[in-house]
Amino acid sequence: MKCPYCVNEDTKVVDSRQVEAQIRRRRECEKCEKRFTTFERVEYAELYVIKKNGSRQPFNSEKLRLSIRKACEKRPISLSQIEETVDQIEAKLRNEDSIEIKSSRIGNLVMQNLRKLDSIAYIRFASVYKDFGDLAAFEETIDKLRKGGSDGRK
Ligand SMILES: [Zn+2]
Repeated sequence: MKCPYCVNEDTKVVDSRQVEAQIRRRRECEKCEKRFTTFERVEYAELYVIKKNGSRQPFNSEKLRLSIRKACEKRPISLSQIEETVDQIEAKLRNEDSIEIKSSRIGNLVMQNLRKLDSIAYIRFASVYKDFGDLAAFEETIDKLRKGGSDGRK
């Protein structure tokens, strides 16, 4: 593993931790002594997403991460909570019977997870993601927010 600061080839592992399907290693460069972190990921069989129009494309967890991050913007949600959410959703998808997954299934999983995490993030995601499979829960959350929110109301 090359040092990202000085491109020296010799780095040592100072800490190693397994988080879900991921191994996180803290490394130190033996030359410039700077520290950095690397992640090793288990590689699975490819998953495919079937979109509403029937087209098929490889599942991309980066896309999932970005859409969740967007929904969580400026909300009190840490990056590690977002990572955890992405990992949980991905793990669920990998445990499905098929390697082909409908995009609506992914959307619903994201909504389920965001709902537990933060109601604003949940509503943001749900309003972008128009194919509500979870409409009742969506309405319930908005209802709860209305009742709970006391300031800023006319
Ligand atoms: Zn270095």
